[in-house]
Amino acid sequence: MITKIMKADEPGVVESAAEVIRAGGLVAIPTETVYGLGADGLNESAVAKIFEAKGRPQDNPLILHISDASQLESFCEDVPPVAYELAEQFWPGPLTLVLKCRDNVPKRTTAGLNTVAIRCPDNTITRAIISAAGVPIAAPSGNLSGRPSPTTAQHMIEDMSGRIDLIVDGGSCGIGVESTILDLTVSPPRLLRPGGMPLESLEKIVGHVAVDEALLRPLSAGERPKAPGMKYRHYAPKAPVTVLTGSADKTAVYIAQHAPLGAGVICFDDFSNAFPGRVIQTIGRSGDLLSNAQRVFDALRAFDSTDVMEIYAQCPDETGLGLAVANRLKKAAGFHVISL
Ligand code: AMP
Ligand code: MG
Repeated sequence: MITKIMKADEPGVVESAAEVIRAGGLVAIPTETVYGLGADGLNESAVAKIFEAKGRPQDNPLILHISDASQLESFCEDVPPVAYELAEQFWPGPLTLVLKCRDNVPKRTTAGLNTVAIRCPDNTITRAIISAAGVPIAAPSGNLSGRPSPTTAQHMIEDMSGRIDLIVDGGSCGIGVESTILDLTVSPPRLLRPGGMPLESLEKIVGHVAVDEALLRPLSAGERPKAPGMKYRHYAPKAPVTVLTGSADKTAVYIAQHAPLGAGVICFDDFSNAFPGRVIQTIGRSGDLLSNAQRVFDALRAFDSTDVMEIYAQCPDETGLGLAVANRLKKAAGFHVISL
């Protein structure tokens, strides 16, 4: 298959993408979080192609993307009032709600669950594509399963060229980490994945949110994950990663002392000269959590085109967007974390 690439501002892009979706094909869509790999979320065989293109395990469900909060009702039932409050406040935006699903959502999309994950993305072109297609777009992140998520069209080309019909190039993703996933089918609501919407912002509306242990440590043998995605290896570059938590000054000293020459280092801009002889990827200044989020996946990916044998990473504090950045780094490291 030849993968077509269109710029998001090219004439006809919305109609072309919508046509591919309606015909049961695959389109890489830009969003404010990461690029998604989209198909008609109501078409079983189209959704099956997503799993095939990514090499994604069948039991890991997809997120249904809608163009307007009013479509919640079409695919979800028993929607609690707080879901509308959250949608009103944060959609379009990087928040995915898990709700009870209606029968019209195919089992392939939900991986057989009786719940569905749903969100309205903050990208005008992508919302226009969803509207023009006339169906919700099911999409996980557009990477090959296990790899760091794509935050540029170039990343999409690396992973999906020849596997999908169309890539819509919307430039770099403004947030750079996936959406926050909140399960509203339990009380209190449960955080299933930290992401682009800070936990602190959600708690202002829903009160206490239960944070799943699996976000903070690896699952132990036989333990059942609360969300299917939790049990899979994620975001990983080829070389093994070690994450350092603690103050940026301390983690820099540790890395300078322990990372061998030629090793990879993910560091804050303020420390870019602190590791001579190592291969450096910077993720923005220490404390600039938005830059850290925007750049973390590109940094992880960049090492795959080098011959580094191991990677050391400075980790931001776990407040605001930092919780999501730290989670991605720790998962990339298989929770190989040294706390200083
Ligand atoms: P991805 O963006 O590639 O990580 O894929 C979507 C994420 O949403 C995965 O982590 C899924 O496990 C999660 N997800 C999708 N549907 C549900 C659901 N009904 N319940 C819990 N998690 C879900
Ligand atoms: Mg993913």
